[in-house]
Amino acid sequence: MNTKLVNSVAGVINAALTQNRTAAGIAMALESARLLQSPEAARRLAELEDLEQRLLAMLPTGPRQEYGLPNDLAASAAEWGAWQQVAEALGAGLPYEGQTARGLRAQTLHEHVIARDAEIERLKGLIEAARALHVKCDDSEHCEHDYERWPCPTLTALGDPGGAS
Ligand SMILES: [Zn+2]
Repeated sequence: MNTKLVNSVAGVINAALTQNRTAAGIAMALESARLLQSPEAARRLAELEDLEQRLLAMLPTGPRQEYGLPNDLAASAAEWGAWQQVAEALGAGLPYEGQTARGLRAQTLHEHVIARDAEIERLKGLIEAARALHVKCDDSEHCEHDYERWPCPTLTALGDPGGAS
């Protein structure tokens, strides 16, 4: 059993459930977290990402050689030109500046899932914070925060399962 994958799937499903998503909504959440790929597609993607990482690690990180004997400069220019083509194919520039230059594009699948889980947790936190503001008045059928009729539209939109109580 792939525990990491199971936990990732469980996390996405749980987040979708707390948003009262439909079955289709849960499926969409899983798809956008790239968790519905076949094992073959996931393996191929991992291979390509690994290849990309290895190519990026080979790119020149320093400035191009500007001084030296003509033959050395010509050889250096030819080599630079070749690396330039590799860099362009990878969406990077020369000299290669590393992670910041690539941004999020070259994230591995694992990093992607981790980042997504963190974002889901952040959004759940925001939803909880918003939900906590909307409480029923002690002495009337209204929301204390917006004074809309209880349960207020905001709480209903947030999908609080206890909102009607
Ligand atoms: Zn309210």
